[in-house]
Amino acid sequence: MKGKITIAIDGFSSCGKSTLAKALARALNYKYIDSGAMYRAVTLYALDKGIIKDGHFDHDFLVHALPDITIDFHFNPKNQKSETLLNGVNVEDKIRLGEISSLVSPISAVKEVRTKLVELQRSYDEHKGLVMDGRDIGTNVFPKAELKIFMTADPEVRAMRRFEELTAKGYHTTMVDVRTNLAERDHIDSTRVDNPLTRAEDAIILDNTDLSPEEQLEFALDLAKSRMNL
Ligand code: C5P
Repeated sequence: MKGKITIAIDGFSSCGKSTLAKALARALNYKYIDSGAMYRAVTLYALDKGIIKDGHFDHDFLVHALPDITIDFHFNPKNQKSETLLNGVNVEDKIRLGEISSLVSPISAVKEVRTKLVELQRSYDEHKGLVMDGRDIGTNVFPKAELKIFMTADPEVRAMRRFEELTAKGYHTTMVDVRTNLAERDHIDSTRVDNPLTRAEDAIILDNTDLSPEEQLEFALDLAKSRMNL
């Protein structure tokens, strides 16, 4: 059995990346890092500091503020979940709000934001045994990851899953809003200049339109185990 590996999971918005990544990390006793939470935290900071106003952001103000932003994760033993800390404050719930979802992709396209967050993301892989999900993990953050999975699913199924997830958490939204947000984010994420969302050549495609979470986990675990035996 080889040592621990690095697992990169990328794909479109609301494809179930984090559900699979968390389950995989739990099954393998690996660390899980949600890279999207980092971009969301920077967006929340920009909103709180007035860097974003009326849906538009001040590029130079944002770049200037980046050194003041620290992002961390801590495990909450009460709910058994990893939570995102922005400058030491738990922002896990706030970064999931619709307002953040609709502003995050333009902020994520800023080169300096990506440089800062990619450096932080790479620092989590010091000892391997890591599952990270996002948009550019297999192509840019960990191009040498032993296992890369690219997730996709029917857009309508994704929108429905996202809508159900948000309403279950008590957020008010509509299917139209969810659909629009997913399409906009996918478009911006796939067409930006720096590290756009694309499938790494060596990534395995997982279309989970008709797969249960258990089936997806089994598929990914088999792949992970085979990569460990290389
Ligand atoms: O994964 P999640 O949907 O929470 O990510 C929010 C946004 O963060 C994405 O729509 C994308 O704009 C950005 N992101 C990114 N690169 C990553 C992860 C997320 O640009 N590795």
